[in-house]
Amino acid sequence: MIYKVIAKSQFKKLVQGLVRENQTIAPKMVDRDRNGKPLYQFKQVHSYEEMDLDYTVTYSSVKNFFLPYREELSRFSFEDADWEQKIEYRVNPRVIIGLRPCDINALAILDKVFIEGPYPSPYYIARRRNTFLIGMDHMPLDDCFCESLNQHALRDGCNLFCSDIGDSYYLSINSSKAFGFLKNFKTSDPTERDNATYIERRKLIKRSFKTKVQVSGLPSFLDIEFKSPMWDKWGNKCLSCGTCAMVCPTCYCYGVEEEIDVNLAASRKERFLYSCNAIDFAQVAGGHNFRPDKGQRLKYRFYHHYRGFAENADEQICVGCNRCGRACLAGINPKDVINDLRMETGE
Ligand code: SF4
Ligand code: SF4
Repeated sequence: MIYKVIAKSQFKKLVQGLVRENQTIAPKMVDRDRNGKPLYQFKQVHSYEEMDLDYTVTYSSVKNFFLPYREELSRFSFEDADWEQKIEYRVNPRVIIGLRPCDINALAILDKVFIEGPYPSPYYIARRRNTFLIGMDHMPLDDCFCESLNQHALRDGCNLFCSDIGDSYYLSINSSKAFGFLKNFKTSDPTERDNATYIERRKLIKRSFKTKVQVSGLPSFLDIEFKSPMWDKWGNKCLSCGTCAMVCPTCYCYGVEEEIDVNLAASRKERFLYSCNAIDFAQVAGGHNFRPDKGQRLKYRFYHHYRGFAENADEQICVGCNRCGRACLAGINPKDVINDLRMETGE
């Protein structure tokens, strides 16, 4: 990692240069809530002015720029006893600006599944390899709990990371591409004062988390709580709408559908994101449903996030962004469910 400092005025020019040359995605205000507070989403932008880099939080994560809600995997056509297959996964280079550390860490978790896992996805890899990521630090919201999961600080996975140190950004340069690009702009080596301000900023962020979730020993604790009545208590509130999985930066369960023309001349296969809370998620041929109850489905979502993935990849899949908690109309959120389970056993 190489560190540099860039004045915010120079950084603006850097971003303007990127926007001119590439498809660019950045946080943007899209609406206001009923209390007049701005609502942000990651959207394609065409100028620096369109971005809201001081945004609070986006309701959805950037996951869908890598795993679209629905995408075509392949297309077949049949003619004269011959057939042709079309598979398209090339993407043009693009830039995503303004990701928070937990969102970048979430992409690193998806990498474990779709790049390093036993069945790498060429569709995901193409998008990931062609996306230049610029992360930015931020002061946590009252309900963020990424610090509890040690996901509040960046580990890896982006090209450039900016920490706000007043009139400048303290840059962590993570790739040769970013280093080469920065040569066109005025940067300087960090002074002792810059280093001190940067360290102070990191400490301030770490101690500003108001929401704490006790996750130590959670995998074995969940084993003990497998039959807890708490799952039904929370499950009975669940609307099985699947919103939590859609907004979550790491939920990746999907279904695959194949559509065949009635004349059997063509077909297409699509992958679509799915939610393990949806009523038919575990339904199989013959109408048998392995998880007919809402409590069971909710439980398995928690087991995947805090137990199953940890067992296979040494890491919990949740990054503590609380997007699921904010979006859930039934008021279900990881902090309350986990605390409830712990209280039941007097932990
Ligand atoms: S937990 Fe909430 S957001 Fe998720 S499926 Fe249930 S009601 Fe919907
Ligand atoms: S807090 Fe919720 S939305 Fe965020 S990573 Fe964890 S499970 Fe997903």
